[in-house]
Amino acid sequence: MNRNCFDLTGKNALVTGSSRGLGRTLAGCLARQGARVIINGTNKELVCQRVAELEKEGCLAASAPFDVTNEEAVRAGIAGIKSRIGAIDILVNNAGIQRRGPLHEIQREDWDAVLQVNLTAAWLMAKHVVRDMIERRQGKIINICSLMSFAGRPSTGPYAASKGGLAMLTKAMTVDWAQYNIQINGIAPGYFITDMTRPLAEDPQFDSWVKLRTPAQRWGKPEELGGLAVFFASAASDFVTGQIVCVDGGWTANL
Ligand code: NAP
Repeated sequence: MNRNCFDLTGKNALVTGSSRGLGRTLAGCLARQGARVIINGTNKELVCQRVAELEKEGCLAASAPFDVTNEEAVRAGIAGIKSRIGAIDILVNNAGIQRRGPLHEIQREDWDAVLQVNLTAAWLMAKHVVRDMIERRQGKIINICSLMSFAGRPSTGPYAASKGGLAMLTKAMTVDWAQYNIQINGIAPGYFITDMTRPLAEDPQFDSWVKLRTPAQRWGKPEELGGLAVFFASAASDFVTGQIVCVDGGWTANL
C-alpha cells in the first residue's frame, strides 16, 4: 500500500451543506488532506465566510452557494464549478434537514421538504456530477446517511424514510457506476451536536438517553467523521463501494 494513498492533493471536493454543522467539519478535514474544497449552502454570506476561514488556514477553498433541491441551480452550480475550478473528483452529499412530528401529524409540505433535500437532491447532485466522472473513469461519492437509515425513532418518520432511501440509493449508484471506477459509499453518523440536533442535546432526558444508549457514553465530535470521509474520498478505498459505515460510538452494536 502506498503510504500517500490518503493524500487528496489535486482533487476537487464538493461538500453540499458545508456552511455549517457536520458538512463544515467534513470540508475542513478533506481540505487539510490537500483537497480543494467547494463550500455549498443556501446562505451565500455564510458560504463565503467559510471559504475565507479555510483560506486563512492555508487550505484551498471555493464557494458554490445554491439550493441542492433546485435542478436548474444544481446544473448551473456544477457547470460554474467546472469552468472556474475544474471537474469534481469527490462529491459529498451532506445537505440535510429534519422536520419532527408523529407521522399522522406531519404536513405534506414537511414530508416533501425532507425527502427533497435528504434524498432527491443526492440523486440530482450525483446525476449532474457523474457524467464527468464516467468520462474520466474516476470519482468518489459519499452520501451522509444516518442511524435512521436502519432504525426508526418516534417523530422522525420523513427523515427515516429519506435516510433509508439514501442508503439504498448508495447501493443503486454502485450497481450503475462502479464499472466506471467510481466508488460510492455512505457514512452513517450517530449523535453529533449541531444546529439540527441542538434541541435534542438541550433536552436533559434525550441527552441522558443518548449517553445511555451509546456504548461510548457520549455524543460524537464532528471531527471524528473525518477519518472515514478521507478514506472514502481517497485512493485507499478504490475497491470499497456500496458500503454504509456507522460512526456512532457503538450505537448500532447495542441492542
Ligand atoms: P445542520 O447543522 O442543520 O447543517 C445542514 C447544512 O445543510 C447547512 O449547511 C445548510 O445550509 C445545508 N442545507 C440545508 N438545506 C439545503 C439546501 N436545500 N441546499 C443546500 N444546502 C442546504 O445539520 P447537520 O447536523 O450538520 O447535518 C448534516 C448531515 O448529517 C445531514 O444530512 C444530516 O441528516 C446528517 N446527520 C446528522 C447527524 C447529527 O447528529 N447531527 C446524525 C446523522 C446524520 P443552509 O441552511 O445555509 O442552506
